[in-house]
Amino acid sequence: MSIEIKDIHFSYGKVKALEGVSLDLPQGAVGLLGPNGAGKSTLIRILLGFLSPDKGGGRVLGYNIKDEQPKIRRYVGYMPEDDCFIPGLDAVSFTSYLGELSGMPRQEAMKRAHEVLYYVGLEESRYRNLETYSSGMKQRLKFAQAFVHDPKLIFLDEPTSGLDPNGRSEILELIMDISSKKDIQVLISSHILPDIELTCKYVVILNKGKLAAQGNISELKEIRDLYEMKIKGEVGGFLRKLKAMKCKVEETEEGIFKVYWPPDQDRQEIFRVAAEEKIQLRHFVKSETSLEDLFAEVVGVD
Ligand code: ADP
Repeated sequence: MSIEIKDIHFSYGKVKALEGVSLDLPQGAVGLLGPNGAGKSTLIRILLGFLSPDKGGGRVLGYNIKDEQPKIRRYVGYMPEDDCFIPGLDAVSFTSYLGELSGMPRQEAMKRAHEVLYYVGLEESRYRNLETYSSGMKQRLKFAQAFVHDPKLIFLDEPTSGLDPNGRSEILELIMDISSKKDIQVLISSHILPDIELTCKYVVILNKGKLAAQGNISELKEIRDLYEMKIKGEVGGFLRKLKAMKCKVEETEEGIFKVYWPPDQDRQEIFRVAAEEKIQLRHFVKSETSLEDLFAEVVGVD
């Protein structure tokens, strides 16, 4: 396991950002999800070795997160959400400079810069001033600089944000390629859940500083059955009874509801309660649960 942490706590003064987070992540691409303020950036900063936890500990790539941070940073690449460019440079100078900052000798950094720029499809524009780059090219350049020093683990923070569909699919293909062919562990933080679903098999969901769920996406999606129903009538009492049976209900459009049904409850109960409350179920189908449904389920829909 390349990331194993136990019972991590971290506070900024009085603000508790992480409370008892434990992770044991498999190889490959892992999605890191959570609403704003959930603690994702704090967790990434701890895993990168920029912050030290108040309590708890663990290992990243086998190195202790409390006292081996320089080693972790040598083997970790980071693609930030915000632009991180140095004005006036071209892509080769920028990428090789970052390689040198990670400890590579100049010549090796230059050679690797050409290789990674070729890999992300920027070979023809590699000598152009990077301020003239489109947002898709800038994003690919940020991706390239994250692995110029041949890291074993890459953190990608909102890698597709602000991209048009073409730019987005180029980055997604690179993510899938790098995490499948190159034996690199990739941790992706994103608000675009379909991107996570496409690129990752495993997901970690944080909410209010705590771990809300962690596991294989396909297995987590089976936590509850999801039904879609159209109902007519006075729905208040019906919905209250469903909630009392530990099922979560979300109105998506007027009269159309998503119902997350716990597996240990008998599904027939829905029909019994509907009859009891004189509710007409006009449409009742089992839906394919998406990652967005799972997210809404574990983080809360209100
Ligand atoms: P996320 O990346 O999921 O949006 P963060 O890790 O940035 O979450 O934030 C977790 C909590 O810590 C939030 O309540 C946030 O307001 C707080 N926080 C983050 N950074 C700081 C900081 N530098 N000083 C004080 N509070 C912070």
